[in-house]
This record gives sequence, structure tokens and C-alpha cells, in this order.
Amino acid sequence: MTNLTTLTLTEAAAGIATKKFSSVEITQAHLDAIEQHNPALNAYITVAAEQALSAAAEADKTSSEGRLLHGLPLGIKDLFCTKDIRTTAASKILENYVPQYESTVTQNLLNHGAIFLGKLNLDEFAMGSANITSAYGVVKSPLKATGDTELCRVPGGSSGGSAAALAANLCLAATGTDTGGSIRQPAAFCGIVGIKPTYGRCSRWGIVAFASSLDQAGPMTKTVADAALMLEAMAGFDAKDSTSARHAVPNFRAAVGQSVKGLKIGIPKEYRPDGLSPEIAATWDKGIQQLKDAGAEIVNISLPHTQYALACYYIIAPAEASSNLARYDGVRYGVRVDNGGTLDDMYCATRAQGFGAEVQRRILIGTYVLSAGYYDAYYLRAQKVRALIARDFAEAFQKVDAILTPTAPSDAFKLGEKQDDPITMYLNDVFTVPASLAGVPAMSVPAGLSAQGLPLGLQVIGRMFDEETVLKVGAVLEGKI
Ligand code: GLN
Repeated sequence: MTNLTTLTLTEAAAGIATKKFSSVEITQAHLDAIEQHNPALNAYITVAAEQALSAAAEADKTSSEGRLLHGLPLGIKDLFCTKDIRTTAASKILENYVPQYESTVTQNLLNHGAIFLGKLNLDEFAMGSANITSAYGVVKSPLKATGDTELCRVPGGSSGGSAAALAANLCLAATGTDTGGSIRQPAAFCGIVGIKPTYGRCSRWGIVAFASSLDQAGPMTKTVADAALMLEAMAGFDAKDSTSARHAVPNFRAAVGQSVKGLKIGIPKEYRPDGLSPEIAATWDKGIQQLKDAGAEIVNISLPHTQYALACYYIIAPAEASSNLARYDGVRYGVRVDNGGTLDDMYCATRAQGFGAEVQRRILIGTYVLSAGYYDAYYLRAQKVRALIARDFAEAFQKVDAILTPTAPSDAFKLGEKQDDPITMYLNDVFTVPASLAGVPAMSVPAGLSAQGLPLGLQVIGRMFDEETVLKVGAVLEGKI
């Protein structure tokens, strides 16, 4: 039998449907791979081997009819509440939290027959770009650059566990979440596909909240076709999330492989700043040529407020985080540090010991920009800038059908690099945050290798609720069709 862990999700679905192998077999193959490789990578925080195998045995007794992911083993970012499986958000403050309910997205996946292998590591509360802020240890990318003697590259973040697990074949596909780039940047660093759908496409219900006006769940997969399949299973209106969109879920799979002839692809000049690395620029140019060769029309465009996006994001996201994270006070959720003092002392001790340094920094920034004296100068102004950024996209999409940019300004950096200065780390997100602020869908597709042999990604941005065009263009860049 072929190595079951190297199959794509789409291939594995066909294999199960035609009974080439069973769900128990493919699940066991992944659990074996996890046992072998997870100690070095630390991609999984929790492995749910027993639950996975018993769910797989159940799946083998039932028909795959009508279920997109029947019997297929997936990894779940540890930010999605999973009933009876510990959910930590990679924070010490939730180390003992076992949800009594299932998030809507994971429930949708279960309804489609998916098997959960376990919970994937991430930056604490999804805050970070390198998966180094997890209370459960850093994640290492399974990829090496030329000259690396050991695993020392970051997988990107915050969905670093998801990206590393996929690149090492420790799951067929994974869920991620993206607030400012957390699906796309790790996908680019690990050479996989990741799509942040339109805000409202996937329900946020049951996902540990970071910045509610930006958070979106999405698939991380080995191929564009797999992303379409996963997204179809994850997405859908949910009355339990007030920002969930009443849009029918299209047949995303049908978009993959369709021609891009005549499509207009925008190339925004603001994404080519003076200091852009030549190899990132060359990869971008190669992508432009690929789309031209496939019959698309290339249009130079401008998104004039791009330069303010990063500053805007790092005001709005911490502001919302400071409010969302107020609930972790040692009373209802997770860890409590009771030092025998007053209620206030208990709150302080719990939050001081339960949250890591980056989360504390975000709460402090967020509280500051929302405080009475600074609200107008920071938060309100950032909201106005956000509206301008969204308008830039709306205007661009009157002229073009999709936008092509690099996903990240560099390839995967080394563990330990960029760690001393948060601003340097935040700069990683410069190309991903604008689409998050605007709410439009965006995908990272592997687009080549850097001079040191590490993956580089290109980002395809689409109109609101037009993931189909994004998938279509992504499939051409992927070059498999
Ligand atoms: N890297 C960004 C941050 O640290 C984005 C995180 C995310 O998308 N969850 O906020």
C-alpha cells in the first residue's frame, strides 16, 4: 500500500470511498507518524489517539455517502473548542479547560465524517507570527534551509502547529484561524496552502476569541483542491454567530481547474516597497507571468492606504483582545491562582501567572488605546483608517477580479531571530493585515523556493464572498492543473 500519510485530502477521500483502505488504517498511519515526529516538531499539544481510532472504526461501519470528509484524519488548531478534548489556546490560563461543547466549524467537520487526530500548537491566544509564544513550547518547522544542520526554522504563526504538521504529513489537512495573517503566513513558511475566507464565511462560535471583528477560521492543506474541499465542509451560516453571513456555500471544488482566461489580476504598487527582497520580487514576477500565460490580464493598481494597515491592525487587534481576554479572571474558566488575598488580588495573580509576556503586552496596548484619554487619538482614528483600507479594496475590485501580492516579506527565519523586538516581529504581517482589515478573502499558495531552499508564498486576494475566483487563480499558480 502507498504511504497513507503522503496522500492529499482529495486522494484520501477517493481512497476511502472506493475502500482502497479503511479509516482506521489511515488514522493509525497518521498516529504512528505523530508518535515518531511530534517529539521533534511539537506541532501537537494534545493527541487524541483513542478518540480518533474509535471514531475511525465507527466511520468504517457507515457509508461515506454525502459526507465530504468521511473517515479522514485532520488536525485541529487548539483554539477551536472540542467537546471532551482539552482546548488550551496554547495558554497556561486554559491548561485545564475541557469544553463541554463543540465549535460550529469543528461540528461541521464532524458532520462531514472527519476524524480529529488532536489539537495543534499555536502562538498563545493566536498572538504571534512564529509560534514561539505558546505556553506548550515552540513549534519547529520540519523544513531546513541549505546549511541548517538541525531543525531550527520557525513554522510561522500563529497557526504554526497546523502548518508544520501538514508539511511533515502528520495530518491530511488542518484548521487554522487568521486574524491578521495567521493562516497565510505559516502556510507560506511551510510550503502549504492556506485560505482566510471572507469575514463571516465560517462561524466564529466556539473559537477562542482574539479580535472578534477580524478572526476568521479557514483551511490549511497540501493543495488548492484540498482547500476547496475543506472550506466547503467548514463554511456555512450559523445563527449562533451574529456576524455569520447568510450566504449559501458554493461548490468550491468546482472552481479549482477553471480557466482564468480574461480575468483581470491587480498588482498593487504599494506591495513593492523599496526594500523588498529581490527573491520575493522575483517570485511575484514569476506568478504574474504564470497568470499571463494562462490568459489573465495583468492590471497595475494602487491601494493607497496600505502603509497605514500595520499600525491600524496593531491598535484594533489588541483593543479587541483586551476586551475579549477580560473573561479569564480565574472565576469561570481555567486556572485560578488564589493567594489568600482579596478578590482583586486573585484576579491579578491569576492573570499575571496565567498569561505569557506577549499576551500581557497586547492587553496593555489594548487597554491603553481604549482608555478615556486616548480613545479618540488611537482607537477611533484606527477605525477610520480601517474604513479607508476597506474602500481601497472595494474600489480596486471595480477594476480587477483578484489581486496578487507576496504573502510575507521573507522566508522562514530562524528560531530566536526577531524575538527581542516586537516591532520587527509585527512587520512580518505587513502584506497580510490589509485583507484582514477589509474582511476580503485571501489565500497563500506555494510559489517557489528562496535562495536557501525554503518555501515562498504568493497571496491571492478576492472580492467579498468570492473565494471561488481566489481558488481558481490559486490553482493556476500552484501549477498542478
Ligand atoms: N501575527 C499577527 C499577530 O500577531 C496575526 C495573528 C493572527 O492572525 N492570529 O497578531
